[in-house]
Amino acid sequence: MTSTANPVADSFSALQTNNSFAALGLDFFTRLPTTPLKNPRLVHVNQDVAALLGFSPEAQKTPEFLSVVSGTAPMPGGDTLAAVYSGHQFGVWAGQLGDGRAHLLGEIVGPTGNWELQLKGAGMTPYSRMGDGRAVLRSSVREYLASQAMHGLGVATTRALSLVSADDPVMRETVETAAVVARVAPSFVRFGSFEHWASRNKPDLVRKLSDYVIERFYPECLQTAPGVPATAELRYVKLLEAVVKRTADLMASWQVVGFCHGVMNTDNMSILGLTLDYGPYGFMDGFDARHICNHTDSNGRYAWHAQPAVAHWNLYQLANSLHAIVPDAEALRSALNQFEPTFLQSMQTRMSQKLGLRTWQAGDETLIDDLWSVMQASHADFSMTFRQLAYAPGMTEALAGQVSHDLGGTVGDGSGALQPFVDLFVDREAAGAWLARYRDRVAQEAAPWQQRVSGMLAVNPLYVLRNYLAQQAIESTQRGDFTALDEMMTLLADPFTAQVGMERYASMPPHWASKIEVSCSS
Ligand code: AMP
Ligand code: MG
Repeated sequence: MTSTANPVADSFSALQTNNSFAALGLDFFTRLPTTPLKNPRLVHVNQDVAALLGFSPEAQKTPEFLSVVSGTAPMPGGDTLAAVYSGHQFGVWAGQLGDGRAHLLGEIVGPTGNWELQLKGAGMTPYSRMGDGRAVLRSSVREYLASQAMHGLGVATTRALSLVSADDPVMRETVETAAVVARVAPSFVRFGSFEHWASRNKPDLVRKLSDYVIERFYPECLQTAPGVPATAELRYVKLLEAVVKRTADLMASWQVVGFCHGVMNTDNMSILGLTLDYGPYGFMDGFDARHICNHTDSNGRYAWHAQPAVAHWNLYQLANSLHAIVPDAEALRSALNQFEPTFLQSMQTRMSQKLGLRTWQAGDETLIDDLWSVMQASHADFSMTFRQLAYAPGMTEALAGQVSHDLGGTVGDGSGALQPFVDLFVDREAAGAWLARYRDRVAQEAAPWQQRVSGMLAVNPLYVLRNYLAQQAIESTQRGDFTALDEMMTLLADPFTAQVGMERYASMPPHWASKIEVSCSS
């Protein structure tokens, strides 16, 4: 392993690589090349992610860059492979899955840490089953935008370095064209990677994978106190506890931005607590706790309100797998029990911030529960409700100006005048009654109102990756016009700050938005 990274590399060849996952050995993956696409073109490069990896702007213009991120040539210094895993899909054991359309190119030693680079859609692998190993441009734009949106919102997520489109036809409901997203994360190991070996009765391989994950990503599990090494069994219990906590916090971070993953199968759950595998996800427009974003999830197993419980169920499967190397089931159970308090604490912290409450008082929980209820009854817009709540009490001329700038006159009477918070609700009376209680509660805060407002604006986004916006970006990208995609990438990087001239991205969803159906067909 090399310790110092090249801060700015002008080419892939100049980067330092490490490929630690490959060192786990051939049980864990199959080495194989990617399958090149016809006429690949670079649609977009995420400059922030390029900087994380240590690329100079010049590097992105080289033929080598396109060659690697399109899957035409291997990454210099890399070790191309597809990983094997198993998993529970929609609550049912699905057996062996694996990287059916993903190739890990290798691990880059970036200026501030190591990053694995993985191509999604670069051809078939031994784990493709009935699939073609490809991804279409439509779903690739969605994944590319989602990684940026989540990162901008401060939600833990895999990142995306680049989006490539090509001419190869790909058969879905209709014939579409192929694309490749280059994804970036410290690791793509999933709960399903552990389930795979436990289900095959291979405790040694569960242990090998656990040791790898602990050593690289959870070194705190190696010790019980500074200088006091943990026993092997305790290390694995501590690993579970750490993953439980990260996942619980991840769920709270999803809930408070109205994000629905859509396919929370155990093979889509990151061992690092990252949001992983963007398919039929959605950010809610009108609030409905039972909102289902995946058209194929007819029972609503992965509906918005169910996500925390599903995560807990998935963690139970992980615990079950770790039981192969931790005989003490009680220790595993108590690690799992950390889920609920961690989730509730994270929700409380995040909701307080969203409502601009610096202290937590008796009655706040009811106040928040009742806000969800009035939002539910009116299907009030999730993001607008919180954004506008910042301005609702103690309105001043200056604030009204800021709000009308935020909303660009696209909401309300069209004159740019402020649309009151209560207008977001069909039942304005109920919203008004709740708002009066909120005003009273806010009056008890010691901090000046400006602080409350700026705090709220820093956590309640103005720009949201709504399905209809993703759809517009997809359609223009398909036509070869990358303007909308590029603008959205910029706005989503900082979704809290209003940008002049970008009002259309902050407007309410059009009528047709509610008709968009997103399924697993990607
Ligand atoms: P997902 O639920 O989208 O994460 O996919 C579940 C499994 O199906 C994973 O093992 C994927 O690699 C695999 N898969 C999905 N789509 C394809 C495809 N077009 N070709 C090959 N494998 C696929
Ligand atoms: Mg997946």
